[in-house]
Amino acid sequence: MRAMVVGKWGEAFKLEERLDPQPAPGEAVMKVRAAGVGLTLVTMRTGIFGGTAPRIMGHELGGDIIAVGDGVENVKIGQRCAVYFYLNCGHCRWCRNGRETLCENHEGYVGVHRDGGYAELVSLPSENFLPIPDNLDYEGAAIAADAVNTPWHCMRERAQINPHDDVMLVGAGGGVGIHGVQVAKIFGARVIAVDITEEKLELASKWGADEVVNFRAIEDLAAEAKRLTDGKGVDAAIDFVGKPETFQACIDGLAVGGRAVVIGAQPGDVKVNPVNLVITEQIITGSRHSTRAELIETMNIMARGLVTPVVGKRLHFTEVEELFQDLQDEKLLGRGALTYD
Ligand SMILES: [Zn+2]
Repeated sequence: MRAMVVGKWGEAFKLEERLDPQPAPGEAVMKVRAAGVGLTLVTMRTGIFGGTAPRIMGHELGGDIIAVGDGVENVKIGQRCAVYFYLNCGHCRWCRNGRETLCENHEGYVGVHRDGGYAELVSLPSENFLPIPDNLDYEGAAIAADAVNTPWHCMRERAQINPHDDVMLVGAGGGVGIHGVQVAKIFGARVIAVDITEEKLELASKWGADEVVNFRAIEDLAAEAKRLTDGKGVDAAIDFVGKPETFQACIDGLAVGGRAVVIGAQPGDVKVNPVNLVITEQIITGSRHSTRAELIETMNIMARGLVTPVVGKRLHFTEVEELFQDLQDEKLLGRGALTYD
C-alpha cells in the first residue's frame, strides 16, 4: 500500500510503499476513503504528544472494513466505518462511567502511538471502528471524528449550553471552532464568534454566529464580551485557541454562573480569584475530545443535516504536506480533507 510516513518527528511526510497490514486478533483493517486534517496533527507531528517515528499519522478517517482478525464481532467486512481517536482500555472506571478520555490505562492516540490512516489501509483494534449512518458520507464521518465530536462533548457535557445562553467561541473560524458554531446553534444559544481575520469571521457568520469580534481590532476581549451582553457577561466561553491571554479573557468575560472551557490548550498561567468563584459559582474547566458514544451521536446529528462539514481545501492524501503547510501558515479556512481515489 502507499503511505505518507513521518520518518522522524518534526520532518515532512514522505510517500512510501508499505506491506498491506493484516488484522491481528481483535483488530480490523479498513480501506481509507476520506480523512480530515487539522491543527492538532501539526502539533502532534512535532513529537510533543509522544509516540515513536517512523509513523503513519492520521486519525480522522472514514472507510470500508476489508478484513477482520480472530474474535472480532463488532464490525463486519464491507461495513462503512469511522475511526475513534483514543486508544483506551474499555474497562477502567472512567471508560465504564462515560468519561473514557480520562482512561487510566490510556495507550495514546491513533496516528501517534500506532499507525493511522494517511495510507490506503489502516489496521486498528476493532473497537476503534464505529459504523457510519447511511445518510453520512465518508468525508463527513472523518470530519465528525474530531472537528465535530469535540465541540459536541464540550458544549453538552462541559459547558452545558442552553437556549437562553450567550456563548463566546474564541477561535470560531478554525477547523474545530467553525463546527463549534454550528453545535452551539443546535443548542439554541446566541453565539459570539471571536477570531483574528475578517475571512474567518465571515465564515463564522455564514455558519450561524450572531455576533463577530476581531480579536486584533479590540483592546479587551472580556470587556467586549460584557459590552455585547449589556454588562452581564457570557454564560459560556469556549476557547479553541487556549493561549493564556485568550483563556484569561474567557474567564474575565463570564456572567454569574458562567462556564469557561478550554479545548485547544497551550502552556501558561491564568489568574482566578477564589472569592469571585464562590460569589458567582462560575466553573473553569477543560474539555477533552469525546467518547465513542458521543462520536456515534455526532455522526447521527450530521446524517440529519444539523451540522455540515466545513471543508476549506481538499487534496489527495499523497499531497497532505500542503495542508499541513496551510495550517501552519493559518491559511486554511475550516477543515482540510483528503481523498484516496
Ligand atoms: Zn480505561
